[in-house]
Amino acid sequence: MLSQEPTKVSDHVYMLKGFPNVAIIVGDKATLVVDTGLGPRNGEIAMRAVKKLAKGSTLYLTTTHFHPEHLGGAAAFPESAILVRNVAQQIEADQAGMEMIKRFGERPEMKELRAGVTLRPADIVYDQQINLDLGGGVKVRLFWMGAAHTAGDEMIMVDPDSVLVSGDIVQQKQAAAAGFERGSVKNWIWMLDQIGGLRAKTILPDHSDPGPAEAMIQSQRRFLADLSDQVLVLKHQGMPADDAAKQITEKLKADYPDWEMWFGVPGSVKKAYLEYE
Ligand SMILES: [Zn+2]
Repeated sequence: MLSQEPTKVSDHVYMLKGFPNVAIIVGDKATLVVDTGLGPRNGEIAMRAVKKLAKGSTLYLTTTHFHPEHLGGAAAFPESAILVRNVAQQIEADQAGMEMIKRFGERPEMKELRAGVTLRPADIVYDQQINLDLGGGVKVRLFWMGAAHTAGDEMIMVDPDSVLVSGDIVQQKQAAAAGFERGSVKNWIWMLDQIGGLRAKTILPDHSDPGPAEAMIQSQRRFLADLSDQVLVLKHQGMPADDAAKQITEKLKADYPDWEMWFGVPGSVKKAYLEYE
């Protein structure tokens, strides 16, 4: 479950710690919530925090990607909340969202939470980027740069705080999962190179703690570059993808002993096998 009390990340950005972390960005006129938590009970916790923190009456909601714990609490948000997401993510949610919720909910601890999950379509769908003015100088840029963890990953840059809400794309010591559905290792690396240019100071990720942007981007990139380098070597040796997935995962585990979330790595290797010649 989400933590009840928000933690302050920067002047206008708050976090409810959980799986995933929920970001609440507060301007004078409007508030933006990033991700909902799984199920209405988590969504209610987020809404209680919003009521405490909000200064203006407009409420925006957005989701970093279509996986159940990121969008599955939307039912707890008022009808008047304006849901914004990119078109690629909306398509994924339409095509595979309910199926993912069913599969996810089979884990016993999740069964209860997923009761009452409904998928809410976006009120505003954007192509690559949308800017929202939350008032009092607080501006947010919601943007999509192609596939990485999923096809519809979104990141949110908060000005003037220089905080990047990164979803799964930049994390602290979390092994990258690009192999679910339509993710991409190659584009993920490209994205990491691009977002360096945003000059964010702090990154607030979804499944780990906030930290210094530059260092987090570099370590995330190093992990994916290591994975890709090993893919290239083994592919040229003619090793089948399944064997390479096992071998590379073991090697990375040894090289990154304090990293977590390894279940998605064999899938990332297999994805890279398709992407690299
Ligand atoms: Zn995810």
